[in-house]
This record gives sequence, structure tokens and C-alpha cells, in this order.
Amino acid sequence: MCEHELIGDYWRGCQHFHGRYYSGERVDCCSPTCKTSAAHTHLPTIGCRCPTIATNRNKVQSIFQMKHEDCK
Ligand SMILES: [Zn+2]
Ligand SMILES: [Zn+2]
Ligand SMILES: [Zn+2]
Repeated sequence: MCEHELIGDYWRGCQHFHGRYYSGERVDCCSPTCKTSAAHTHLPTIGCRCPTIATNRNKVQSIFQMKHEDCK
């Protein structure tokens, strides 16, 4: 499963990481059965059922002591 870098902040008040945007950085898992991978290949006769799910790699930019808006 590929990883997509998610930039956000860690909010100590609610103890969550809240993402803001994707940096575009991607770690490819190089699996032919992963739809988001560059290595994803199939014979044209085989329908693709590969999952598109990619995992987030959280990158903390700032740390806030309060709660995030969504968690108040
Ligand atoms: Zn992948
Ligand atoms: Zn929160
Ligand atoms: Zn596929």
C-alpha cells in the first residue's frame, strides 16, 4: 500500500493529528496489485479489482496546545 504524505498539525488539546493538505510526496509500494502504484499492471483481459486505498503518512508541522476547531 502506498503512502501519501499528509501535512498537518498536532493538537495537544484533543490529542489529534489534523491534516491540512497533501504535499504530493508519495512512497510507492511497488506492488502490481496496488492501484495507486506505478508498478500496477494487469493483462488487458483481466478486470482490475485492486484497492485504491492508500495510507497517510502524517507529517507534523506545528504543535498546538489547544483543541482543534472540529473537536471543541
Ligand atoms: Zn501501493
Ligand atoms: Zn481533534
Ligand atoms: Zn489492478
